[in-house]
Amino acid sequence: MERTLAIIKPDAVERGVIGAIIQRMEAADLRIREMRLVRLTKADAEGFYAVHRDKPFFDNLTDFMSSGPVVVLALEAPDVIRHWRRLMGVTDPAKAGRGTIRREYGTSIETNATHGSDAPETAAFELDFFFKAAHR
Ligand code: ATP
Ligand code: MG
Repeated sequence: MERTLAIIKPDAVERGVIGAIIQRMEAADLRIREMRLVRLTKADAEGFYAVHRDKPFFDNLTDFMSSGPVVVLALEAPDVIRHWRRLMGVTDPAKAGRGTIRREYGTSIETNATHGSDAPETAAFELDFFFKAAHR
């Protein structure tokens, strides 16, 4: 069994598709072990995305992620890190495969509806970031 950190980003919360996205998780048998609606501060977003600190899109990204509430979830399933990223599709909604969440609900490479941890090490960091010991 594996866990990953998923985020329903401010654009998707604003457009009222929290329920539709959670339905995709449940339909795929990804179990929700933790879930919370949170409003990140700019500093929270900078801490969460620290690995992207030197990227040209860092300032815009952290503005966007602190622009409104997000839903953070701990998902559990076998191979869930890869499974959830496959359901999301690639970063740019315009390039994401048909039927993926980002293709359906994302509107730009930045406002792309959801986040998913990309490896076991990042999942551990990101789950701790929002849920501390609670996800264990
Ligand atoms: P995430 O980490 O959110 O699951 P990802 O792993 O597909 O997405 P990353 O490369 O980790 O993509 O980028 C993190 C986030 O930064 C993206 O989800 C997107 O919101 C934003 N982003 C990435 N590349 C760009 C870009 N070229 N321009 C603007 N925003 C970007
Ligand atoms: Mg990433």
